[in-house]
Amino acid sequence: MLLLNTLFALALSTADPVGFIGLGIMGQGMARRLLSLPRPLHVWSRNHEVTKAIAAQYPGMITIAASPAAVIDACERTYLMLSTPEVCEEVYTMESGVLEGCRPGKAIIDCATLRPEDMASLGERVRARGGSFVEAPVSGSKAPAANGALIFMCAGDKATFEAAEAELGVMGKKSVFCSETVGAATQMKLVVNLIMGTQLVALAEGLVLADKLNLSSKDVQAVLDQGAMASPMVALKGPLMAKHDYSTAFPLKYALKDMRFALSLEEAPELPVSAAATALYAAADDEGGLGDADFCAVMEAARGAIGEKREC
Ligand code: NAP
Repeated sequence: MLLLNTLFALALSTADPVGFIGLGIMGQGMARRLLSLPRPLHVWSRNHEVTKAIAAQYPGMITIAASPAAVIDACERTYLMLSTPEVCEEVYTMESGVLEGCRPGKAIIDCATLRPEDMASLGERVRARGGSFVEAPVSGSKAPAANGALIFMCAGDKATFEAAEAELGVMGKKSVFCSETVGAATQMKLVVNLIMGTQLVALAEGLVLADKLNLSSKDVQAVLDQGAMASPMVALKGPLMAKHDYSTAFPLKYALKDMRFALSLEEAPELPVSAAATALYAAADDEGGLGDADFCAVMEAARGAIGEKREC
């Protein structure tokens, strides 16, 4: 054991550091996965308590940087997992922010779910400073982030994507390079989340009907799990929705954000079913105050516990 620890410490001391910015629900799991490479990690996150707590769990492996620019300064590649376009804009452009750290030899890999045009704009500004840029939004939630089972959809600088193979490999089970044009991966991510959000509403409405019919939710779940609709999401969220357990893995406000982004894509045709599903998330967020709950709290809107709002 002592020998193993010594070898691990030696490997760590000679390895290049990797950067991580944004230690929220997803970022915490992803950053922990990167440590297993093993690589020293330089991190910055707004919430210093979270950063200190993680650093304390991995003595000698994590450097808490004073700013986003300081993370980038210390690392060849820096991953970002922030929340919204507004937050990304703030962290990129603030004093000692992301853009200030960018220069030739520095790569930014942004994993947030934004609009394609947000990613394109961030990428252009990173490149204008000589850095390279890959957008890498993910499919998968809190548990897949912690277990290294995310699916990365990537676009941008191909050489950076290839250089990041080991890091993406330890955080995810699959990485798809969509295009050298930034925005294409985000388009794919928004399509995936539109399907996911709409599918979850269909499950919620089915469970509501089953309840009205006094059917056993356990029996309904058992049938679903054995049939053609079986999926990890149905298996995970069905039992939670049946007992109204909305412990947060994917905040409902972010599911709503993504569905609105998808519906507002320039190329989007009329998508009436997806639009109706989005309206239920909007009701759960606006009227139900459930934005910070898990997105399966859309169940409350589906069962009519929240208003009759139908506009998204
Ligand atoms: P989250 O838990 O809300 O974390 C967001 C991160 O952004 C936190 O580190 C947060 O810092 C930081 N942040 C927020 N406002 C900030 C500000 N004004 N200045 C600086 N930092 C700020 O979100 P998440 O669930 O990890 O999701 C991150 C992204 O991944 C989102 O775009 C989401 O749509 C996407 N995504 C999420 C999931 C999921 O299941 N959760 C799955 C796939 C994709 P604080 O801790 O200080 O608030």
